[in-house]
Amino acid sequence: MSAHPVWTVESVRRALTEKKISARELTDEFFRRIGNRNPELNAYLALSPERAYAQADRIDRQIARGAPLPLLAGVPVAIKDVISTAGIVTTCGSRILQNYLPPYDATAVTRLEQAGAILLGKTNCDEFAMGSSNENSAYGPVRNPVAPDRVPGGSSGGSAAAVAAGLAVIALGTDTGGSIRQPGALCGIPALMPTYGRVSRYGLIAFASSLDRIGPFGHTVADVATALAVLAGEDPNDSTCAKTPVPDYTAELNTPVQKMRLGIPKEYLGAGIDPAVRQRVEEAIQQLEKLGCTIVNISLPHTDYAIATYYLVATAEASSNLARYDGVRFGFRAPGETLTEMYRRTRGQGFGPEVKRRIMLGTYALSAGYYEAYYLRAQKVRSLIARDFAEAFRQVDLIVTPTSPVPAFRLGERTSDPLQMYLSDIYTVTGSLAGIPGISVPCGTTPEGLPVGLQILGPHFEEARVLRLAHAFEQAGGFAG
Ligand code: GLN
Repeated sequence: MSAHPVWTVESVRRALTEKKISARELTDEFFRRIGNRNPELNAYLALSPERAYAQADRIDRQIARGAPLPLLAGVPVAIKDVISTAGIVTTCGSRILQNYLPPYDATAVTRLEQAGAILLGKTNCDEFAMGSSNENSAYGPVRNPVAPDRVPGGSSGGSAAAVAAGLAVIALGTDTGGSIRQPGALCGIPALMPTYGRVSRYGLIAFASSLDRIGPFGHTVADVATALAVLAGEDPNDSTCAKTPVPDYTAELNTPVQKMRLGIPKEYLGAGIDPAVRQRVEEAIQQLEKLGCTIVNISLPHTDYAIATYYLVATAEASSNLARYDGVRFGFRAPGETLTEMYRRTRGQGFGPEVKRRIMLGTYALSAGYYEAYYLRAQKVRSLIARDFAEAFRQVDLIVTPTSPVPAFRLGERTSDPLQMYLSDIYTVTGSLAGIPGISVPCGTTPEGLPVGLQILGPHFEEARVLRLAHAFEQAGGFAG
């Protein structure tokens, strides 16, 4: 992976307070790393050195004054390019927003910077976060730092690759159907999808509003927990953001996990799973048992319907959200003789094939006569899937599954078959539809050295419990493979 030392939130803090390095020097080091590695990986689409150095100097002045340092002081971060950053080009991986400069920052970005983080730049992703391999970006695919002939996963592939390659300490991704957890698994790093409503979506450019969530990638579970502590909490600018109090996510990390009851859903280790992935996950489960957890076999009976349900709900919402890109208000415009022609050309040239496919699917599912048969029915099945989880969480504290049925695949291997690509999301879309939190933690590698991820799902707003188990597993060397 990276020949450089792995910086974590903790080691950055220590090095800064012991004056082993200044925030400016650390920022230099990260831009140097990006300069070396990004031409190959294509993880960053834009860099923001001015903003990064201004913040670094602010932190260095605080250190010189001996002022108390905020939680993420001097920590270099990367932001997925679907999250708005004032004055920094935000493309959503799409041609239609190629020159778009947001007029304001997303709340998540504001919170990271208020906590002292240094914003390095914006990361590549599948166009409008639609994809599982980062191959749907208008700006070219991202390469997996562990195996550069392979995909990093998607849609937050640039964020996952940036952290895995040591080009950021923390990165923000978004997860609508697996886009944080799956690239985390494929790149071998912890990746957290918080509960729907735990982190403000203000300034997140919408894909499917009832599913979209912002969450962090990091090198360690503790880093992810610290990032969540900074990101979580109510926001007057997002009415769907919960007022639920934010616990101290790092305080409980070391509480023993003995006697935790862990559910293993039988539907998640069946047909279609790669044998090496299955083996690593089964070993991980044994390891959790050794840590004193009780393993309980459970069933989530509506799992089979999850992919179909997700691809109806997500495309319906996407078709409505993406109607705003008309060449008038944002980004790219292809001129035409008439207004309609301008719209048609702008959207025809501005959107890539996967986005068009989703807009058409979603428009169909919402159209008169089909709404009841498709969209409304999908909403009902969504409730059944959520109920499966609610019932399971009466018996168990957490649910443990593989994150992805397969490890990182080769670039181009799945692009010709959208259905095959959609099946990458089979273990992640259920938690998305249910609104619950989930993390992917590394659990070893395949014989070829490709990372495997273990998914831990918890009840709504129980991120602390999810993080605690993930941390215990990490500490036990669960990822050593
Ligand atoms: N791969 C899924 C999709 O293409 C999930 C994407 C996401 O979570 N943003 O819709």
